[in-house]
Amino acid sequence: MSRPIDTTHDPNLRSWVESANHKDTDFPIQNLPFGVFRPRSSAEPSRIGVAIGDQILDLSLCCQLGLLQELPEQLQAACAAPNLNQLMAMGREATSMLRRHLSQMLRSQEQIPPSADEILVPMSEAELLLPAHIRDYTDFYASIFHATNVGKLFRPDNPLLPNYKYVPIAYHGRASSIVPSDTAIKRPKGQIKKPEAPAPSFQPTQMLDYELEVGFLIGAGNELGLPIPIDYAEEHVFGLCLVNDWSARDIQAWEYQPLGPFLAKSFATTISPWVVTMEALAPFRCPAFERAEGDPLPLPYLSSSDNAKFGAIAITLEVLLCSVQMRTARMEPFLLSRGSFQQMYWTVAQMLTHHSSNGCNLSPGDLLASGTVSGTEKTSQGCLLEMTQRGVQPVKLPTGEIRSFLLDGDEVILRGYCEKDGYARIGFGECRGVVLSAG
Ligand code: CA
Repeated sequence: MSRPIDTTHDPNLRSWVESANHKDTDFPIQNLPFGVFRPRSSAEPSRIGVAIGDQILDLSLCCQLGLLQELPEQLQAACAAPNLNQLMAMGREATSMLRRHLSQMLRSQEQIPPSADEILVPMSEAELLLPAHIRDYTDFYASIFHATNVGKLFRPDNPLLPNYKYVPIAYHGRASSIVPSDTAIKRPKGQIKKPEAPAPSFQPTQMLDYELEVGFLIGAGNELGLPIPIDYAEEHVFGLCLVNDWSARDIQAWEYQPLGPFLAKSFATTISPWVVTMEALAPFRCPAFERAEGDPLPLPYLSSSDNAKFGAIAITLEVLLCSVQMRTARMEPFLLSRGSFQQMYWTVAQMLTHHSSNGCNLSPGDLLASGTVSGTEKTSQGCLLEMTQRGVQPVKLPTGEIRSFLLDGDEVILRGYCEKDGYARIGFGECRGVVLSAG
């Protein structure tokens, strides 16, 4: 697996888009994540854009104006498509070529195109949509700390099931209810059985939670019946985004056995709009999780020296909350937790390889999510279920309000970024959602 670090990662690169040169922007010229947008409050067709500073480079218009004409025709056509699926299907080589071209075009040494005003759309004036048509969604459970903490709450005597260290555990999620950031989330109703009650009742969830996750969108797919070997796994990943896997814990507790999560999860999943490519993440690769003494090694099909050396990705992840009272008082969102994607027990390559190991086919735009990213400390736990010990130890907000689970009006904000000495900081932008009443 090659993850070349080239001139597109040079920390000294500057862009003629001024806002891309600010030191704390998520979208410097070294990032160049892809998304899909349309001008806010318009009915215009969706188009592909690249985030650069606080602007969006409109790839569709770049195509029309001939700014991408040095690229192969098929790649130009993919840039003018209404979503990223076509570009994803072309595989990593095409994405890399496009990245190099865009990096060159946006550099400060280059002449600013006369059409600069047209091809840039301020992000604040755009509606950010789902990046791809997502046909399938699978949610993993790749943090051993999350699996152990949650296991203790649901099964105190048997927290980590014996398959965990062998199998990257997952369930098949619902693709139809994946929504872009800034979509309001209606509190779901469902069957809830209180421990003391003889039977369940149907009511709004009282234990609404978020889950901080990283998603990866599939690039080139595989044919049905043809598993993807681990050393080729990343050739099939287009890029990463943030995922909030909203969860109704009381519905989940009653329904999850024996077949796993269903309606407790399928009411909504929010993803961040910008897909950070595997190319952009190359400088932030690091060794896979170091298994404890006595842990079994992954089976050979989930094992490779490349994966052990570079399989993980160092992404810092944050969850923030803003209540109605905080918004009214114009307070900043409150940081609930900060964790690292580096600490996952299973890597992206292992999850993808396992997914296809029975011959299951993955398609461009499919979403695979990591599962809740949790660390060893309370301050690095990626959901309220863990942080509050199923509501027993509520968290306190700066207003003095407390939260065991989410209340109506709460806004959950996920953020992610990569930092490393000698490289430009790159970020994922935000994944936001406000909770609405069940109505
Ligand atoms: Ca999840």
